[in-house]
Amino acid sequence: MTTLLLGASQVVTCRGPARARRGAEMADIDVIDNGAIAVGDDGNILDVGRGGDMRAAFPSAEIEEVEGVLFPGFVDCHTHAVFGAPRVEDHERRARGVGYKEIAAAGGGILSSVRDVRAKSPSELEVLTRARLQMLLAQGSTTVEVKSGYGLSLDAELKQLDVIRALHHQRPNLIATFLGAHEVPAEYRDDRDGYVDLVVREMLPAVVQHGLARFCDVFCEPGVFTPGQSRTVLTAALEHGLRPKLHADELDGSGGAELAAELNAVSADHLAAISQAGIDALGNASDTVAVLLPGTMMFLGREGRAPARRLIDAGAAVALATDFNPGSSPGMSLPLMTTMGVSQLGLVPAEAVIGITVNGAAAVGEANRRGQLAKGFAADVVLASVADWRELPYWYGVNLVAGVWVGGAACHPSLKPLNSAS
Ligand SMILES: [Zn+2]
Repeated sequence: MTTLLLGASQVVTCRGPARARRGAEMADIDVIDNGAIAVGDDGNILDVGRGGDMRAAFPSAEIEEVEGVLFPGFVDCHTHAVFGAPRVEDHERRARGVGYKEIAAAGGGILSSVRDVRAKSPSELEVLTRARLQMLLAQGSTTVEVKSGYGLSLDAELKQLDVIRALHHQRPNLIATFLGAHEVPAEYRDDRDGYVDLVVREMLPAVVQHGLARFCDVFCEPGVFTPGQSRTVLTAALEHGLRPKLHADELDGSGGAELAAELNAVSADHLAAISQAGIDALGNASDTVAVLLPGTMMFLGREGRAPARRLIDAGAAVALATDFNPGSSPGMSLPLMTTMGVSQLGLVPAEAVIGITVNGAAAVGEANRRGQLAKGFAADVVLASVADWRELPYWYGVNLVAGVWVGGAACHPSLKPLNSAS
């Protein structure tokens, strides 16, 4: 049965090449007034066009009336959604003037989440993660990248990745990234290279053997992993068939963006402290997406801003993500990231929308299948209760998402199932 999503004041298609949009391409989103989307029973889009034309083209389609603006499903390409308790103490400490690195040096920060994840059972983590993924979905995220990195031992890293795999057949779509090199655990503080060795010789082969991840990420930052150690891990990942991602130049620059471009990483993330050489490298990179995480700097109360405008002017592909995690960004709203993209990073609204759709999909290797409303793409669709698409980054602090479909299946509490088969 074909279904027509009909009645939208606008359909934002983001139609175009099935790859990241770079530089000036990011401002082109293709809006159809009074548009409609035809969805086949395989969960893919049959066509997108004006409502009247689509009714004529699909006369026997079942009609699903919608009211608002339809967008491609949002792709959150950078989260750490598998964790235990929230870190409200860290939040309060920061308000009292204690810095991120001081909290980490005192054994708080990431390492407190590591102790927590190590202590929790897989089923406890699964219950917590499932609830959080439902909240992400309710904000319009139909595809979510999730990293490990709170285990930092072979067993605990595999436990986190197993939780992601266990939730894989539910919605949203999940993409797993192995981030064993997120931090050096307490037991390796005096032997940091020894920990890199453990990641490369034991964790990576096990992750690959069990087919638990598509990407491998490293936190390349002064005081965490050096560019040399990052290169060691990511080169090994490439040899194992995992494409690199990189936490790069977040708080202090260390050449992470250049390393990501050199290794043809799928993304270089954070970049608030990127150098001009890094901007040039990402501007000239063939495939590496610059993933910006403005919620993190806001939540940490830091002044730094990733130079989004300079990146785009240099020809880079920019995506926006939440960095959803318990320490530095417990936020779940990609629409809020578009507000911050416009108001704090200087993106125009169209660039911000491309940043959470096409370019988010490219940052997780899914640009050929997701991120745009076009023939043959997965019917991952978000309905926002607005009349003009530019209201998405405009209204903030409220959830405008009134409907979500993943692979054609309605998964929002307020909607009936679209295809009874799914
Ligand atoms: Zn992160």
